Amino acid sequence: MTDHDHDHSHDHGSCAAGAADALGRAEEVCASRGARLTPIRAKVLAALADSATPVGAYELMDRLAEDGRRPAPITVYRALDFLLTNGLVHRLESRNAYLACDHTHDAHAPVIFLICDSCGEVSEASSDDVADGLSALLAKVGFKARSQLVEVAGECANCRGGQGRAAGA
Ligand SMILES: [Zn+2]
Ligand SMILES: [Zn+2]
Repeated sequence: MTDHDHDHSHDHGSCAAGAADALGRAEEVCASRGARLTPIRAKVLAALADSATPVGAYELMDRLAEDGRRPAPITVYRALDFLLTNGLVHRLESRNAYLACDHTHDAHAPVIFLICDSCGEVSEASSDDVADGLSALLAKVGFKARSQLVEVAGECANCRGGQGRAAGA
């Protein structure tokens, strides 16, 4: 359950407030679960929220380096695990990369990733219709889902010259 009246109408191209938003949300999630957003967890989340494109684990370690010293891989992987478990970060299987969650949704809710082949941006979408359709399908075949991540590859509206929403082509 989320009772946020948070405005999601921000422009993805210039998401400068991304990290601050994400950290504020993470603090709330952690507080409500009695978990702690340690400094390394916060840093990992901020680095992902700052990036418009998904970030691989090793690139993430480079970005987190301070005075030329990268954090130990195990430290970063543990922080990622925590963030994944709490639904603050998603892992994009096809790219083996991570991205901060844009939304407040249930950790097991279906998520649709729209992956642009041209600019590499990945945006996250959710749809009640897709969620309903998917759970009906799973019930029908008796499959218990561990995660429900749908990846759609293609070209984003920006790269298509802003024609994304043009009706009838
Ligand atoms: Zn999400
Ligand atoms: Zn694009």
